[in-house]
Amino acid sequence: MNVREVGPRDGFQNEPEVVPTDEKLRLIGLLAASGLKRIEATSFVRADVIPQLADGAEVLRRIDVPGDVAISVLIPNERGLENALRLRDRFQEINVFLSASETHNRKNVNRSIEESLSGLERVLGRAREEGLRCEGVISVAFGCPYEGHVPPERVFAIARRLRDAGAEEIGFGDTTGMANPAQVRSYFPAARDALGEDVELTAHFHNTRGQGLANVLAALDAGVRSFESSFGELGGCPVPAGATGNIATEDLVSMLHEMGVGTGISLDALLEAARAVQEVLGRPLGSHLLTAGPVEWNDSPR
Ligand code: ZN
Repeated sequence: MNVREVGPRDGFQNEPEVVPTDEKLRLIGLLAASGLKRIEATSFVRADVIPQLADGAEVLRRIDVPGDVAISVLIPNERGLENALRLRDRFQEINVFLSASETHNRKNVNRSIEESLSGLERVLGRAREEGLRCEGVISVAFGCPYEGHVPPERVFAIARRLRDAGAEEIGFGDTTGMANPAQVRSYFPAARDALGEDVELTAHFHNTRGQGLANVLAALDAGVRSFESSFGELGGCPVPAGATGNIATEDLVSMLHEMGVGTGISLDALLEAARAVQEVLGRPLGSHLLTAGPVEWNDSPR
């Protein structure tokens, strides 16, 4: 099972305060020590737009993780890619993003979907020339807070464009927690039909309405083997206001292990990272495992 930790980007970006660079590096080190093999470390966005990630270059330069950990960087546009490429040997993957609805895309990046796609096609082409692995993430793929229902065919058409431009992985983002398990169970087989066997399909669920892990189970049943999550349940989204974030990595890993699904991740080590980020942020975070701790079976027969 592939689990990508997105807390250092998706999480820290949405915190009101700026996490000091030294703390980011320490936390990324703890995450990598847990056995996570995919970590989204930062992004190359304009510092005046997202000051929380203004230290992206320094984070990449100083990041120190085992060689089998793939570091991923979020790239908003061609300029972001050129800036990131100055540190080409410090990361292995990029992800690019756009929204499945015109309104959300316009509010997020002030472009139409078509404008975003044509820019991202150039980014993906250039990234592939550099030998980078590419993920295309589609936000509000399961429903949009502004437009409501988003036809899956529209999402898959966007996904095909990203695939054809070089994305080996498509992430489907439930950015504001509108997905439900019944929807998810039929969604991914349809995505597989639309995109073929060669693309990795990744589920990026938020726990905004408490349905995150139910959606994971539905995605597992539908054949999904790749998930994105955030330690501590970091990563709220401005809409709806005050909403919680991504599913918590430790909750996800605990559930998978209890179900007998291997991840290669040490839950204890992951919890150490989650406790550390809770301490850094100085407030209780949303993850259940942080509160309840791992399941203890003692010696009773299961
Ligand atoms: Zn997210």
